[in-house]
Amino acid sequence: MIPTLSAPSPGVAEIRSAGWTHNMQRSVLRQMLAVVSRPGILSFAGGLPAPDLFPTDDYSAALAHVLSTDRGALQYGPPFMPLKRHVVDMMPQRGVDCSVDQVFLTTGAQQALDILTRFLLDSAGQVMLEEIVYTGIRQVVASHQPEVLPVRTDLETGIEVDDVIAHLERGATPAYLYVIPDAHNPLGVSLSEEKRVRLAEIAAVYGLPIIEDDPYGFLSYDGRCLPPLRALNDSHVFYVGSFSKIMAPALRLGWLIAPEALMPKLTVIKEAGDLESSALTQRAVSAYLDGGHLPAHLERLQKEYRLRRDTMLAAMERHFPPGITWTRPRAGMFIWVTLPEHVDAATLLETAVEREKVAFIPGHAFAHPGLKATNFMRLNFSNCCLADIEQGIERLGRVLELVTE
Ligand code: PMP
Repeated sequence: MIPTLSAPSPGVAEIRSAGWTHNMQRSVLRQMLAVVSRPGILSFAGGLPAPDLFPTDDYSAALAHVLSTDRGALQYGPPFMPLKRHVVDMMPQRGVDCSVDQVFLTTGAQQALDILTRFLLDSAGQVMLEEIVYTGIRQVVASHQPEVLPVRTDLETGIEVDDVIAHLERGATPAYLYVIPDAHNPLGVSLSEEKRVRLAEIAAVYGLPIIEDDPYGFLSYDGRCLPPLRALNDSHVFYVGSFSKIMAPALRLGWLIAPEALMPKLTVIKEAGDLESSALTQRAVSAYLDGGHLPAHLERLQKEYRLRRDTMLAAMERHFPPGITWTRPRAGMFIWVTLPEHVDAATLLETAVEREKVAFIPGHAFAHPGLKATNFMRLNFSNCCLADIEQGIERLGRVLELVTE
């Protein structure tokens, strides 16, 4: 049972907050992460990239150069045009052509999701979200209190396009459909080519805006990921990218690609949030990219994360008992595990932490309210060294033996 946050603490004057906050719940994910992040626990729970792979030397050189040469780096100022040019140069790697006028810099992908939601969603409108989906998008839409139209996800091919069509045929007019084309968080699945084509067509036929969230598409481990939807439809698809997973999350820098004509309105919405993204970070990231370091860095990330993914998958094959299945992500950082229906992953987590000092996130943390999603877990493979992956999966296997006998 997750306590609501409405009760004031003793001694604190009661503040009357906005209606939508009254039933606000603590972030299940944050609570769980707090519990399992104790010293001594081997954790596959978080969603963090590997700190040992941050490009610290090249980035600190770029940052020092900017600070010593450009006073604008510490000033208010417009979005940094050279960084937009770098984004334009990076996007063909994802099969996307765009111009600088279509690039909008944001404080992380999360802010891009927030800005687009404010732009597209009317109060009491509708949004279409997968039943199991990145919790950050639910947090973004919460204050708007929309009707959420749920869509199922196939664990091999991604979002159920027929569910999308069924909603639209029934007359729904969602502000947008939210899609993670590659390496879904938490499911680890990537959209099949056929579904990409169908979704791009549906968007055009029904005039359905799509927010395409692509923080993991540059991190592909089995050859390039398929092109995102933006490569197939440049009028209805808002593409969202991020430097968090390909450089470092603390940069808090991302981008969105949208029709040029919308930029003035998106700018006003962003200004209400934070005026602008850090001028210093924009220039430092741009200087890092000027140095041409990104391709080699991406190669290193891909090689290292591929190894971690393969090590985890192989260990799961060896140590998990029969009756358990999991996704095999082509990119990203997560594996989604389906347990036998009778297994409650939240109880399993308690046993795992107590007996074997190993942790994961139970799948219900990502589920649409009301959906029965008790027998799933999300495992992160990017944030552990190989030895810990081997060890942790072996321990988790022992816990799973207890409940599947
Ligand atoms: N979208 C997805 C699917 C994510 O997993 C995350 C972060 N874990 C974000 C957006 C937010 O990324 P950023 O750090 O760029 O704000």
